[in-house]
Amino acid sequence: MIVLGVESSCDETGLALYDTDRGLLAHALHSQVAMHEQYGGVVPELASRDHIRRALPLLEQVLADARLDRHAIDAIAYTQGPGLAGALLVGASVACGLGLALDKPVLGVHHLEGHLLSPLLASEPPEFPFVALLVSGGHTQLMRVDGVGRYTLLGETVDDAAGEAFDKSAKLLGLGYPGGPAISRLAEFGDPGVYTLPRPMLHSKNLNFSFSGLKTAVLTLVKTKITNICEQDKANVARAFVDAIVEVLVAKCMAALKETGLKRLVIAGGVGANRQLREALNAAAAKKRFRVFYPELEFCTDNGAMIAFAGAMRLQLQPEAAQRDYAFNVRPRWPLDELSI
Ligand code: ATP
Ligand code: MG
Ligand code: FE
Repeated sequence: MIVLGVESSCDETGLALYDTDRGLLAHALHSQVAMHEQYGGVVPELASRDHIRRALPLLEQVLADARLDRHAIDAIAYTQGPGLAGALLVGASVACGLGLALDKPVLGVHHLEGHLLSPLLASEPPEFPFVALLVSGGHTQLMRVDGVGRYTLLGETVDDAAGEAFDKSAKLLGLGYPGGPAISRLAEFGDPGVYTLPRPMLHSKNLNFSFSGLKTAVLTLVKTKITNICEQDKANVARAFVDAIVEVLVAKCMAALKETGLKRLVIAGGVGANRQLREALNAAAAKKRFRVFYPELEFCTDNGAMIAFAGAMRLQLQPEAAQRDYAFNVRPRWPLDELSI
């Protein structure tokens, strides 16, 4: 079965073809980062319009890369939520329009299920069950994953997401958008221990997170403690920020593994691309004897491959999920643990 995946929940248009026999056949992505950069964040209306421009050329590209005719597609999976309403509507209407025109079934996919299952696209995929840390621009959650559609929320952020903390702190340091990769690179030049930032909820005795105080601490440091902040100081602040957030993320993962008794940890979402986080988790895994799995770097942030894959997994387990009713509705807010199989 060949599934076309369509992702448009935020500022990336992603299309991909996944074959349940042969694996990922092709994927293509257009990132709108350059377009939104001048505004310091995603402008929803511009995002929607750009998805409209990009979707069909990207479809042609994946079909050409996979050397397939569009009629070879068996089903179309699209991101139904959560995300920006207008952006989601573009992907949903493209998918349902194609479904109607090609007479193929369509299926709405949960964006976070896409992120969560993305490590299964890697060459050495984890087996179920595992603990998943989902760290993206909009979410920070620890889940117990027993199979496709079998998710138990263990803990989550009570305020900002980890990616949001990266982006907002980077902005305070004048690093542009999105700030995660930039603050991570700058931190490499920082000296450890020059500044110390709080580790929110490190000892909270539950698996929740809080990152808004960390961002405020960066603001206070930049505004009051350092006059005429120089490049080295910026790098030192970046280092303090990365050290603090990585320590909290790693500690909570350890606690989740302990609580569940599981020995497999999966990292998903954009912050999963972070080098310092990966290094710290790899070190902990070697020491504490558990295995840690990551998506391929290009599938950490939003992409169509994870949507095609999640759609294909669902269709295999739940063939009735495929619809030929092409009236669609999107779900900008949609908790992951509402999903079942
Ligand atoms: P959600 O999936 O919750 O709706 P999103 O789709 O915007 O949010 P992703 O695309 O998964 O989130 O990830 C984007 C986030 O990942 C941004 O906040 C970005 O700064 C962060 N990010 C990407 N690469 C890195 C990195 N190397 N280090 C730290 N953060 C990173
Ligand atoms: Mg994005
Ligand atoms: Fe995402």
